[in-house]
Amino acid sequence: MSNTRFSAIDILLNRSPIDLPYQDKPTPKVSTIFGENVFNDKAMQKYLSKAAYKKVKLAIDSGAKLDLKLAGIVATAMQKWAMDKGVTHFAHWFQPLTGRTAEKHDSFFDLEPLDDQVIERFSAKDLAQQEPDGSSFPGGGLRTTFEARGYTAWDPSSPAFIYEVGEGKTLCIPTIFVTYSGESLDYKLPLLKSKAYLEKAALPVVQLFDKKAKKIITTLGWEQEFFVVDEALFNARPDLMATGRTLLGKASSKGQMLDDHYFGSIPSRIFTFMRDLEMECYKLGIPVRTRHNEVAPSQFEFAPVFEEVNLAVDHNQLLMDLMERVAERHKLRVLLHEKPFKDVNGSGKHNNWSMATDTGLNLLSPGGAPGKNLRFLTFFVNTIKAVYDYADLLRATVASASNDHRLGAQEAPPAIISIFVGSQLTEVLDNIMKGKSSSDNVLKVMELMERLPDLSLDTTDRNRTSPFAFTGNKFEIRMVGSSMNCAAPMLALNTMVGKQLTAFYDDLQKLLAKGMKQDEAILSLLAKYLKASKNILFEGNNYSVEWQKEAEKRGLSNNPATPDALKAFKALKVKRLFGESGVFSNRELQAHYNTMMENYISRLTIESTKLSHLCYEYVLPTAVLQQNVLAENIASLKKVGIRASGVKAQMDILKKLSAATNKIYANIQKLEKLKSRKHGSEEKRAELCKTQIKPLMEDIRVQAEIIEFFVDDNLWGLPKYRELLFLR
Ligand code: ADP
Ligand code: MG
Repeated sequence: MSNTRFSAIDILLNRSPIDLPYQDKPTPKVSTIFGENVFNDKAMQKYLSKAAYKKVKLAIDSGAKLDLKLAGIVATAMQKWAMDKGVTHFAHWFQPLTGRTAEKHDSFFDLEPLDDQVIERFSAKDLAQQEPDGSSFPGGGLRTTFEARGYTAWDPSSPAFIYEVGEGKTLCIPTIFVTYSGESLDYKLPLLKSKAYLEKAALPVVQLFDKKAKKIITTLGWEQEFFVVDEALFNARPDLMATGRTLLGKASSKGQMLDDHYFGSIPSRIFTFMRDLEMECYKLGIPVRTRHNEVAPSQFEFAPVFEEVNLAVDHNQLLMDLMERVAERHKLRVLLHEKPFKDVNGSGKHNNWSMATDTGLNLLSPGGAPGKNLRFLTFFVNTIKAVYDYADLLRATVASASNDHRLGAQEAPPAIISIFVGSQLTEVLDNIMKGKSSSDNVLKVMELMERLPDLSLDTTDRNRTSPFAFTGNKFEIRMVGSSMNCAAPMLALNTMVGKQLTAFYDDLQKLLAKGMKQDEAILSLLAKYLKASKNILFEGNNYSVEWQKEAEKRGLSNNPATPDALKAFKALKVKRLFGESGVFSNRELQAHYNTMMENYISRLTIESTKLSHLCYEYVLPTAVLQQNVLAENIASLKKVGIRASGVKAQMDILKKLSAATNKIYANIQKLEKLKSRKHGSEEKRAELCKTQIKPLMEDIRVQAEIIEFFVDDNLWGLPKYRELLFLR
């Protein structure tokens, strides 16, 4: 018997090993290849004159605009560098609201008009601006058709890099993506704005403690989880190909799924892939460091050394792309979906976030000289207050149809935002709230603080269930979906903390004007903020039902479904926050909301359509075949005189198969009917997806599981979970 599933398994089992450029050679030293494909400081020094290099460096460091003349000098140097490395094309690389990246490629090659001269050209304008056809990217209504073009503009703060695909090499220029009138159509522009806003707000606050600090740097260290499956098996699952997740199938037993996987040895085929991927990352200057198996089988994690937030986001976007391309080389497929497999742990992204100064201080580091701990407390408490005030917004930034499968599903943080700080800091915060804002208390707080450097070493105190946890010297946002652009929650967090720090500074000036001592004034403000926001602090198990009840009592929001979570974007408070900070205009925010809603609706529409196809093509025909076998068997047994009691098992199974078949068919009919209702507002259509389409899909899945369970294994055409997760 041969079907797509067995053919796929056959291909997998007969794979010949993959030839890698450095297969049998020792791994090159990272330092010799790190950043070799990046137009970084070293490359700039080599290809620019001393004077030009100085000017460019100054402009980049200060965030000032590069004038066209300087851009021209950079373009020439960049082109020379790239062509020396065999590059033929260049592309503006941008981050539309699809969550992934896009490029528009152009050749350096050009013909001089009226003259047959072939030249290689890359001008200041080529570097600074391009007009990709924007109509294929989500715009949320910002573009009318007559101005459908989008514009990409160079982001000099993130270095250009060479992307190698097979023999082809392309010079990629990180860019922002905007409409004709400059409204953002991407994640990068609002991220850059939020970062500038936060850094500006944080500077005077830092200077209360450290006069030497002249600049703040927002930092991000992400952790990326993902699944890896064999290419042949992937190709035999139309649902994986079309939606990135299995719409049918289920893990046979929970225990099996945990088989020594976590931190266990990495299977050799995957190890080769990881090693190859790491090398590619190093060439692009992505400082990846950790790799280990995750909780589920075939699940892994990559994490880099943290970087400045804009660069870190670019690197994560690049990594997601790179992973997929390198995996293909190994006949593997990377699944970045948040929930590729039912009943198997999903994938997330952890965003570790902090702020640092140009003098080398991590503003969320509790250690160091006691006299400076008030600085830590200031940034720590203001972040807590900001997250309390804008928890709904933070939740909205990580809302998507795919992430809905994780949040609140007892495996990832719930949809309720709470903050974990650990027992030692809880004690410190309690002390502050007790409100003894005398200088005696300052000393007492400091004494407590002295024990804090131990904190980062203490792993027993790391609550893994918290969506927003303080982990030693940074906050870790754990609700981010594995396929998302990290920038979404970062731009919200930067903005809300920026606003809070501004308010803090103003409040402080008022108290100082009244003659209060600085330390005392700061402590009294921190006490006030903590009292106002203490309801968001939670040290217990976030997965528990008790917490849901408790959170409700505390007045914390709980929106497990995307359409409800996204409403936060429409709140007046959020409009004000973004408007005042300049991160999003009202129109941009509305467009952002529209895009997220459209993404939700289209994802569920695609999934439900695919599910119907799978049922018609695989599940129902197989169920019918199996029913025939059973019916024939019952008939022939009866013919030879076996009584009803002797065919009971066959009858039972036959009835189950028949019932499941009918239920699936009826549900598909209902689905089709619902989907034909195309009219109605976005809200209504999203609500329909949430309350009717999703439950129908869930029921179809349950029925299909019954069929998968009872039909002859030889008849089943879709690779099963045990194969997808364990064969490699
Ligand atoms: P875990 O898996 O236990 O959460 P990891 O060591 O895998 O921890 O990840 C910690 C992450 O935090 C790394 O990506 C690291 O770069 C990042 N990180 C460490 N310090 C900072 C900081 N000051 N700012 C931002 N990210 C940081
Ligand atoms: Mg983590």
